[in-house]
Amino acid sequence: MTSLPAPIRRSRPLRRSEIPPPGHARRASGTGSVLGAILDHGPVARSTVARLTGLSPASVTGHVGHLLSRGLVRESAEATGPRGLGRPHVPVDIDTSRFLVAGAHIAVAHSTVSLMDLRGRIVAEDRRPHAGTDPRHILGDLAARLPLLTDAHAAGRQVLALGVATGHRVDPAAGVVVEHPHLGWRAVPVREILAAATGLPVHVDSHSRALARAEQMFGEASTRRSTVLLFVGAVVDGAYATSGELHRGPRSGAGSVAHLPLGSGGSGDAEPCRCGRTGCLQSEVSERAMIRRAAEQSLYVGTFQELLDHAMAGEPRAVALFRRRARLVGRAAALLLDMFDPECLVVVEPGAGRLPECLADLREEVGMRSWVCDDPERAVVPSSFTGSVLATAGGAVALGALYTDPLGPWPALPAVS
Ligand SMILES: [Zn+2]
Repeated sequence: MTSLPAPIRRSRPLRRSEIPPPGHARRASGTGSVLGAILDHGPVARSTVARLTGLSPASVTGHVGHLLSRGLVRESAEATGPRGLGRPHVPVDIDTSRFLVAGAHIAVAHSTVSLMDLRGRIVAEDRRPHAGTDPRHILGDLAARLPLLTDAHAAGRQVLALGVATGHRVDPAAGVVVEHPHLGWRAVPVREILAAATGLPVHVDSHSRALARAEQMFGEASTRRSTVLLFVGAVVDGAYATSGELHRGPRSGAGSVAHLPLGSGGSGDAEPCRCGRTGCLQSEVSERAMIRRAAEQSLYVGTFQELLDHAMAGEPRAVALFRRRARLVGRAAALLLDMFDPECLVVVEPGAGRLPECLADLREEVGMRSWVCDDPERAVVPSSFTGSVLATAGGAVALGALYTDPLGPWPALPAVS
């Protein structure tokens, strides 16, 4: 992760014709709302699901019937009410015994394939470095690794779909990575390539949107109403969701905060950015810059992970670098909080996720800089998936689609009776 490919500034802006037409964001169907309530509260009685969703008891019974016939939910062994009064009193829960989804995350230097159950729990994951950045090669490698993972870990459960997540601009409606400058990808038809290679339905989205959706499905409850997620890795980007809807934008570009100008970081030595300017958020907090700054202090590491390991072991120079990074991320977080005033801002950054002093610094910076956020302790939270962020992102794309439309085109599921 220390060497970056050469091309920096985009040779030319994308033409409108190169951007796939926007798809419509899909709201959860009635059946999707019922499945979501069962995910949140299961085992749960149908009558409670009716109260939670605002649907009529008869309608909930119908939706639950469809979900039972598809094997997505099961009736729970223990009944909550008196026996003999009929099925509505038998609680239902998510059935995790029959199906899995597969996930693939494509990072700048490596890719991760994973298996996830219907409650969003990682069953298995496999991360490997890229041999190059050619999309056909990377996608072919992912497709080849998936059956090995399934054979070893699926334990008889069937894989429903493959979700793919990566950074920069991704169009989920078209299934296309619109532009990924770090990889040199432009208009790569990921869904088409991987569907042909795996035979699975394939869903594609940006890793930030995938992780925001994962928080709403399986993570922090306070993210439900509105959330901004800031992803800080080799790529820096974000996502915004409100009332369960992820805002993607007509150019699939929402959340492109990599080049937010931060100035010098207070130290007078602004970091040159791939875009040709200096002091952009992504360049200031980049893993490459962290490794370089460590070397300037005679702390020599080969990879960013090594630097993180040093920080977690308490090495003072490494800790200081992560605390500096947390301050810079805090500046961007304050701006995003002022822009969107979300219920919750989720920071996906390994320092803030693991080192309490980094999270404290980040929150303090937000408290000093934000005009609207007066409760950073509550509003700014680390990712619920620290340690398994990349394995979670891909699977969450597939599960997000399943929970939105469980009666949709899922060939592996039995037809609705
Ligand atoms: Zn820049």
